[in-house]
Amino acid sequence: MEKAGTGMEISKQPFIYSDREIDDKEGQVIEDLKAASQTPIPDPDRWLDEEIKKSILLTTVDAVITWGRRNSLYPVICFPACCAFEFIGAMGPRFDLSRFGMEILRASPRQADLMITAGTLTWKMAPNVKRVYNQMAEPKWVIAMGACAISGGIFRSSYSVVPGYNRIIPVDVYLPGCPPRPEALMQAIGMLQHKISQGTSIVKE
Ligand code: SF4
Repeated sequence: MEKAGTGMEISKQPFIYSDREIDDKEGQVIEDLKAASQTPIPDPDRWLDEEIKKSILLTTVDAVITWGRRNSLYPVICFPACCAFEFIGAMGPRFDLSRFGMEILRASPRQADLMITAGTLTWKMAPNVKRVYNQMAEPKWVIAMGACAISGGIFRSSYSVVPGYNRIIPVDVYLPGCPPRPEALMQAIGMLQHKISQGTSIVKE
């Protein structure tokens, strides 16, 4: 058809494709490009379970707290007599107690959660030991180290000796010997850690 006065011809022919068909065609071109340029992405339903098994650890808050407690025991200073020297030996480089996360002795009971009673306890000292124990924060544990700590040892019959720390404070682990060797102390600490991990002494009356 010729426009009046210009001599130009304007086509009245409609578009071959509808808008929807054009969109579909472009989308298919893009999908073809993606498929050609990328490695196929696996369906998450097929790999997610396996990935979870490999990289996610399910546990409880209580288990994590217990794990932290058992591996970061801080002993308070309580060395009334000769068993203390074996404890000091355990702290040295040969036995290296720091391997168990407890190399730092605490002079303040507020910062300690373990009392290793290394030595004979007299009744005169008993109130102070009891006070130190009471000032330790919960949860807290006690290892009775040596025969004197368990029962008064060779001084049991003395009027002045407490026949065992368990007469004044609760004891979690009894470590026999006069004195016990550092290896035995480490075994006792391992037993206490096992006890802590079992959650049997976290809460005390
Ligand atoms: S158990 Fe033996 S080594 Fe330990 S405090 Fe008593 S007497 Fe000393």
